[in-house]
Amino acid sequence: MPADVPLPPLSFDHFFTYAEVTEFVETLAAARPDLCRLSSLGTSRDGRQLHLLTITDFSTGAPEDKPAYLIHGNIHATELAGTHTALYTARRLLLDYPASDLLRRVAFYIVPRINPDGAEFAVSTGGQIRSRTDRSERRANTLYQEDVNGDGRLLTMRQQHPDGRFVADPLDPRLLVPRRADSPGPYYRQFPEGIIHEWDGGDDIRIEGRGFDWNRNWSYDWRPEPEQWGAGDFPFSEPEMRAIAEFMHGGGNLFAVLGYHTGPAAVLRPPSTGSLADMDQEDDQVCQDIALIGARETGFPVVPVIEYHDGRSRDINLRGHFHNFGYQHLGLFVYEFELGTMLNTAGLSTEEVFAARTAEEGEEHMRRVLRWWDANAPDYPLFAPWQPCEHPQLGPVEVGGLVRPLMYNPGLMQLPRIAEATYRFTLEHAALHPRVVLEDVTAESVGGPVYRVRARVANRGHFPTHVSDRGRGLARLRPTRVEFCPAEGVRLLSAQGHVEVGHLEGVTGSRTLEWFVSAPDGAVDLCTVRVLGGAGGSVSAAVRTGG
Ligand SMILES: [Zn+2]
Repeated sequence: MPADVPLPPLSFDHFFTYAEVTEFVETLAAARPDLCRLSSLGTSRDGRQLHLLTITDFSTGAPEDKPAYLIHGNIHATELAGTHTALYTARRLLLDYPASDLLRRVAFYIVPRINPDGAEFAVSTGGQIRSRTDRSERRANTLYQEDVNGDGRLLTMRQQHPDGRFVADPLDPRLLVPRRADSPGPYYRQFPEGIIHEWDGGDDIRIEGRGFDWNRNWSYDWRPEPEQWGAGDFPFSEPEMRAIAEFMHGGGNLFAVLGYHTGPAAVLRPPSTGSLADMDQEDDQVCQDIALIGARETGFPVVPVIEYHDGRSRDINLRGHFHNFGYQHLGLFVYEFELGTMLNTAGLSTEEVFAARTAEEGEEHMRRVLRWWDANAPDYPLFAPWQPCEHPQLGPVEVGGLVRPLMYNPGLMQLPRIAEATYRFTLEHAALHPRVVLEDVTAESVGGPVYRVRARVANRGHFPTHVSDRGRGLARLRPTRVEFCPAEGVRLLSAQGHVEVGHLEGVTGSRTLEWFVSAPDGAVDLCTVRVLGGAGGSVSAAVRTGG
């Protein structure tokens, strides 16, 4: 395909606002209308579009007729690197075609920012938010984030207080560390930068409205609060989550799903509750083998979600989580990349981060981040010096500290390398797609007007058409079936036209089918054979006399 219009460059010098994401996806789609289309899954609570890029070679078939790979990013508001990484993959898929010919056979669906409202809050203020915060009913004695000192950002406030649980770190006074019995003062308490609603002047100050974690709003094993913090009111109660769930359930052709997050760098795999033994044993093995591709490309460790925690915690159970949803409800091998944080950027491995068992070890990790920052990227706006400020309620405070979206994402200077590595994983993972084909389609005259039509329906891709053992029994994935449609005037002589073939194993799964028809004199067109169902895509062949 001639590249007439250059693809827009993807800048890695800052995280994107909604307007910048929108401009990028619009420009990308306009540059390659033959390969990339922009649509929307719906609108966010605040009315922003949930951009969906569909990337495939449209001349080789419609996306809904091809095995499909879904990528989403930024479900957690602050995890802005997920958007960038998803955009990187979208751009590279276009750039590398046709050298890499995957787009002939696979449709990629990319939702770079499933949470545009939350991400806008994070990117434009630096404030503290998981996915969404409900501030509609303000409660008394509750601090709501507001820009107190007028610098356009939401940072941290520290206030001297006799009961303060923090002191300035003696080794790096920019940091606050927990106060110990023998710590000399001054003692600080810290809050997000903000104003206390209907404050009675007491010390009992709650922080913010109700929080939502959309990665606990998926339907499988959903639990209400307080059993699962952030769960929302019911599965897919959040409109953005409902939009992506409807999309995922809408087509049967998804064979892979991938989410981008930021936390200590890892390739996350199912399960998100219970134990590995809750998965089918063969699925567990295949899931691990694919995750190891991600580990090889990125250098990140493979971690089942249940084990993604520090050395002081037990295994976790995340209810209503993406991994169990994707595996148990869709029968897919689900991955999330935790793209890293500044801890990883500063040279700490995830194993080291999680090995910290004492507060002192965690404090030393933070010092390492600031030492790395001083030496390598002092212009990166990671830390805001503490600035005195007169708070209208609390009196003298200082505002400053780590800039959250920068701390809790990998450094942008390292993100191109990380995005490239996850892109290579996606190429290898996607290359395993099931691929249903029709082979050796023939029509042979067997005397007079009677023809024998034969075709072999086969899966020559790696995955079976049900993708996983779990997927085999799920009603979502209809087994492969063949529709036999005689042409005008042609009569089917066989007892059966349509055939339920059932799922086909990868590489060698096939079934040979045969029909007899009677065609009128001089007929050319005999029939159309169509294959549907499973995750291997749909194909059809027109059969003619002499064919
Ligand atoms: Zn996340």
